[in-house]
Amino acid sequence: MLATEKAGARPGLHASALLAEADRLMTVCNSCRYCEGLCAVFPAMEMRRAFPDGDLNYLANLCHSCGACYVDCQFSPPHEFDVNVPRVLAQVRNESYAAYAWPRALAPMFARNGLAIAVIAALCVAAFVLGFAAWHDRSVLFGARTGPGAFYKLMPHNAMAGLFGIAFLYAIIALWMGVRAFWRDGGNEVGVAPGGWWRAMRDAASLRYLDGGGIGCYNHDERPNDRRKFYHHLTFYGFALCFASTCVATVYHYLLAREAPYPWWDLPVVLGTLGGIGLLFGPLGLMIAKLRRDRVMVDEPRLGMDFAFIVMLFLTSLTGLLLLLLRSSLLMPLLLALHLGVVFALFITLPYGKFVHGLYRFAALVRYAKEHRAFTAKG
Ligand code: SF4
Ligand code: SF4
Repeated sequence: MLATEKAGARPGLHASALLAEADRLMTVCNSCRYCEGLCAVFPAMEMRRAFPDGDLNYLANLCHSCGACYVDCQFSPPHEFDVNVPRVLAQVRNESYAAYAWPRALAPMFARNGLAIAVIAALCVAAFVLGFAAWHDRSVLFGARTGPGAFYKLMPHNAMAGLFGIAFLYAIIALWMGVRAFWRDGGNEVGVAPGGWWRAMRDAASLRYLDGGGIGCYNHDERPNDRRKFYHHLTFYGFALCFASTCVATVYHYLLAREAPYPWWDLPVVLGTLGGIGLLFGPLGLMIAKLRRDRVMVDEPRLGMDFAFIVMLFLTSLTGLLLLLLRSSLLMPLLLALHLGVVFALFITLPYGKFVHGLYRFAALVRYAKEHRAFTAKG
């Protein structure tokens, strides 16, 4: 049966059949309310009587896909109500990435071929860097180089910074436009009290709602555990440490006139190595968890988009750590070019892939903190 044909679905009110199905489920859940202690989605739902598209996208991004409400639900399939909140909210969430993407026309292309585009972009940039080096001084490709400035024999620092600065700036603008559209679609006025920001930051940093109400996340069987939370943490904090490493290296270069590569004990390398280890094992664990997850709870047609982002994070870390280990060898030019290519591809695909879920989820947590405060104050 199509989602729009199910009893209670109101297709005319929504931009897609999926949003109509999410409206139907939220209406059923709002009558039942059995799951209200599991996460923030149900209390946020209970504050509403109607579910316009902006609110459904908000609820979908508030969901952490722990699976508890599917396992606990007395109306899940084969019951005729066919209530499958984790899967439908995952589908709406994935649809919302394209709906708010900027420019919107690029979103379907990345949704269908995200991994292929990222790999091709990475290889093209790596080939460009190697070609650039060969054009200027072919000998840099065939000799081992060490010491400060060794990386910039391949491509001068300013050219490298210019290339990546443009990609990074583009990613920041596109991400900002997407988050702004997501925030405004919920009819949000700008003001959020400092307490709301603090609560949202705490909930995001601890992945508070990825615990099935306290017992853990459901994956491939009915025994919940905290593995997905652990791998998410490894990935998030690994990414943050790698970003911190890049920031420290930028300060070293411009303010202290110290050029990469740095010795293994220096701060950018220590931060980058710890972050790289997190970004290696976090995405690997997430990939395995995703492959093993009960298919009934996942948005299977869009699994490729999820994998594209995780694979790019994994490759960023792998090429970075290999570069660190082999930077004194003849392989340095090839590994540096590959690492730069992967990082460039990661930047340009960030606004159209799974990365945005972190930003939209944080925006949803901020909105929830704001709503919860207003609701509690009203009594
Ligand atoms: S998921 Fe099922 S049990 Fe939970 S609130 Fe909705 S209808 Fe009730
Ligand atoms: S899957 Fe988990 S986070 Fe999502 S609505 Fe259900 S209980 Fe809440």
